[in-house]
Amino acid sequence: MKKYIFALFLIACLALAGCGRQPDGTPHRRTVFAMDTVMNLTVYGGNGEAALSAAEQELYRLDAHLARGTAGSVVYALNHDGTVIDREAAALLRASGSVAQASDGAFDPTVAELLDLWGFGSGAGEHRVPLPEEIAAALAHVGEKYVHIDGEQVILDLPAQVDLGGVAKGWAGERMFACMKENGITGAALDLGGDVALWGGKLDGPWRVAIKDPADESAYLGVLEAEGDRFIMTSGVYERYFEENGVRYHHILDPKTGYPADSDLLSATVICKDGIWADALATACCVLGADGALELWKTAATEWVPFDAILVTDDGRVLYTCDGFTAQAEGYTYERVA
Ligand code: ADP
Ligand code: MG
Repeated sequence: MKKYIFALFLIACLALAGCGRQPDGTPHRRTVFAMDTVMNLTVYGGNGEAALSAAEQELYRLDAHLARGTAGSVVYALNHDGTVIDREAAALLRASGSVAQASDGAFDPTVAELLDLWGFGSGAGEHRVPLPEEIAAALAHVGEKYVHIDGEQVILDLPAQVDLGGVAKGWAGERMFACMKENGITGAALDLGGDVALWGGKLDGPWRVAIKDPADESAYLGVLEAEGDRFIMTSGVYERYFEENGVRYHHILDPKTGYPADSDLLSATVICKDGIWADALATACCVLGADGALELWKTAATEWVPFDAILVTDDGRVLYTCDGFTAQAEGYTYERVA
């Protein structure tokens, strides 16, 4: 529900920001429930309704294909049989492996068993704090080294388990871009439940995207002016959590400790041309903390995939690496990192 309200809010912001003044005529819009969230898709130019229908069908297909808990999904098959031949799964796990390497294991698709232990997995039941020995046992099966990819074949050393929840939305955005291209869409703002994928251009200026305030989901930190063909993906420790004995446990796990990441970041927004990287890097930054995230920002620019970031620390600082971000919220200090 919280996500739903924010999605509506974000769309309102996008509309306010002038997305409606497209020279290509009336926008076509559609709301789709997929990947456990409400998505609002807005497209301009081209064959709008056909593009939206194609995007909607693609989202349903990805939901069925990638969900770990759905019998018949490729991830379910891999986790049960230890091997699958599937071009898409191989590509997603290959990219996930690269992010794992780039982030020194802060992002790791083999955290599935840990997610289940904490009750954050698909159909994993109640949230609870696992026993230290349960965490130790699960940690023994966490690691990129248990995933082997050869062409379209993936081999997983069971009982290691994978979860593509950290890259699914980014990949969905990439697939929707393909739907836009095939249907001659000139511009699209695809709100994937707080994460945003921007396709093409707006002839009346850059896209403007509201970046949410991790401390108050009804407010926003600022507005980002962004070019098209960009993914703006946010991970935050406030998104999913439970409380036990007064302690808050959130859904972004540190693959090294098995516990919710204990970093100084409340949220990380990543702006990147690659959807999978954007999605996974946002999670990795939350695990790494501000210093580690900025280190990754520097090395990724030359060694991996370049990205920009807007990081919010638990002591009220907003660190951002790109131009075009206008501060909006009271109570934060904003620092442009160069
Ligand atoms: P969203 O689902 O809104 O995209 P995130 O971008 O924060 O949320 O992604 C977090 C998801 O990624 C979790 O729900 C879980 O499935 C998975 N995950 C949590 N921690 C890690 C991690 N360290 N590495 C890889 N995936 C993770
Ligand atoms: Mg994400």
